[in-house]
Parts: sequence; C-alpha cells; structure tokens
Amino acid sequence: MIIKTAEFLKSSSKWQECPEPTLPEYAFIGRSNVGKSSLINGMLNHKDLAKTSQTPGKTQLINHFLINENWYLTDLPGYGYARVSKSMRKDFEKLITNYILNRKNLVNLFVLVDSRHTPQKIDLEFIGWCGENGVPFSIVFTKADKLKPNAAIDNVENYKKELLETWEELPEIFLTSAEKRTGTDDILKLITTTNEF
Ligand code: GDP
Repeated sequence: MIIKTAEFLKSSSKWQECPEPTLPEYAFIGRSNVGKSSLINGMLNHKDLAKTSQTPGKTQLINHFLINENWYLTDLPGYGYARVSKSMRKDFEKLITNYILNRKNLVNLFVLVDSRHTPQKIDLEFIGWCGENGVPFSIVFTKADKLKPNAAIDNVENYKKELLETWEELPEIFLTSAEKRTGTDDILKLITTTNEF
C-alpha cells in the first residue's frame, strides 16, 4: 500500500466520542516506550504524526488518523506506566476495554512488544485478555535493530514458545524496526489484504 494521505482527525477520551465507525479501523497498542509512535510515523512516512512518548500521568486519549481517505489508524494510549496510581490504571483499563469491545469497525489490533525483552507479565495478560474476548489481533515486535538479527529471531521464537503454553494457535507476528523501516510493509500488506481498497 502506498500512503498518499495521512491526517490527524481527533483525540477522544471515551469510545463514544471516537469518529463514526464508517471506515475499517486498525489500532495500535503497547506499553509506554515500546516504540509505538515511531512505528506509526515510520509506517506512514510522516515524521511526527503520532506524538512520541506521551508523559506518564497525562490524560490518556485515543487518537484517530484518517489514512488514504479510506481507513482509520488508531493510536491507543500506552499501558504499563510504573508509577501511575491504581485509579489511573483502572481508568485506562476501562477506556481501552470499552473501546476494543465496542468499536464495531475494528478490523485488527496490533499489540506492540519490545523485541529485546523476555515475555513480560503485563503484555501476556493483555494478549490473554484479547484471546479470551475474541479480539482479532497480531503481535508486532519492535526495535529489532537494537539486537543482532539472530538474537531478535531467537527472542521471537521464545515468545512464541511461551504463548503456545496457553494457546493452541499463534496470532500473526511481525518483527519490525522503525529505525531501519523494516517490517512495516508487512503490516500494511495485512491491512490491504483484510480490506478491498
Ligand atoms: P512510544 O512511547 O511507544 O510511542 O515510544 P516511542 O516511539 O516514543 O519510542 C520510545 C523510544 O524508543 C524513543 O527514544 C525512540 O527513538 C526509540 N525507538 C522507537 N522505535 C525504535 C526502533 O525501531 N529502533 C530504535 N533503535 N529505537 C527506537
């Protein structure tokens, strides 16, 4: 897919405030600092469409972008801030779960995971929640350039092994680097093949 246009539409603090669900939608989520903004910007070929590293403690918002005038890209707030209060975590959970479970036009959720780390509890829990609720999702490993190629592949294989302890089937998996612009075309390909643009 060639990105011809990418425009910011709006930020919403409730799923009910999101743009009308009239176009297919693809959402991105992950822990804070996982490289979500960099990946979105790299994939869309825009320097700073998605804001990098939102400050922890700031209002959590759902950001919608209109791509090629025919699909929505959604930047969901990052989870897993170490130092937010319990009530903020609850608010975040409500925002995200309500959005994911109620958004009728959501075609796929891309769950971003840092390729350098061993599987983290918070990510595994979130992935488990997606599975239990029948959310269509893929896993996107980020920052692959920070590791030697074999080490990145080994980490992905270990992750798969861990998932297969509780899952019969694996979701689609992408290994990406926003820095080197690798893997993002495969994500765009999935978006193209799940729709008729
Ligand atoms: P977000 O909080 O998930 O939106 O993460 P950001 O996109 O702001 O990235 C967090 C940090 O990781 C920044 O310092 C980025 O420059 C860095 N980063 C993000 N993606 C990559 C990548 O693919 N490779 C490398 N080497 N650094 C990255």
